[in-house]
Amino acid sequence: MEVAHQVRVILLDIEGTTTPISFVSDVLFPYAARNLDRFIRQHLQDPEVHSHVVELNENRIADLEANLMPPAWRDGSEEARINSLVAYGHWLMDRDSKRSALKWLQGKIWEKGYSDGELAGQVYGDVPQAFQRWRERGKRIYIYSSGSVLAQKLLFQTTQYGDLTNQLDGYFDTRTGPKKNPASYQAIVSEILCEPRQVLFISDTPEELTAARSLGVQVALSVRAGNRAADSTEFPVVHSFDEIVPA
Ligand SMILES: [Mg+2]
Repeated sequence: MEVAHQVRVILLDIEGTTTPISFVSDVLFPYAARNLDRFIRQHLQDPEVHSHVVELNENRIADLEANLMPPAWRDGSEEARINSLVAYGHWLMDRDSKRSALKWLQGKIWEKGYSDGELAGQVYGDVPQAFQRWRERGKRIYIYSSGSVLAQKLLFQTTQYGDLTNQLDGYFDTRTGPKKNPASYQAIVSEILCEPRQVLFISDTPEELTAARSLGVQVALSVRAGNRAADSTEFPVVHSFDEIVPA
């Protein structure tokens, strides 16, 4: 697809768009699940970690009050509380929760994994050249993903093609709002000082595209080899960023 002249910004989803879904589902999520218990025990005294643990506990109480039946809470000792909290964290992860406190903790666990060399980011082979090509045409590139901003930066810092963060202009996560909510895209275009029609958003999730398009943002559906094919009749489809040619 040729990108309209007016487009100045390319806004990208990660999972299913820049990066195989399998990287997230088979590498990142299991790594966070395996290391949650150890991470909380090692860092509970850290004020930032502690405040997110408190937020997680507030989430748990809200889930309890909403009759979602989170795992039972045991309050007899510090050990019991940590075990209960970790069990709740696993419960959220099993439900693919997008809760910000959980996402932040996962991001911190991944940060440690990346810095220890136990994790490295993955992108599709067409991504680095596309970033370069788009930038040469004066486009700015932003990321919008439900993974935390920290996790996004780490992924792009450590790809098999090297550090790509110098090509990226900024990052948005669920702190900006849910990806299926039009208001989130309004917040993003305001933040990056653009009109909606100057932004092209690419994602593999039709509901996200619908939300962005309702504001006048240009959209394209990412359909990558190996990922489940989304319903593609409603949006322009891209199979590779090679197809995104700025005017
Ligand atoms: Mg996606």
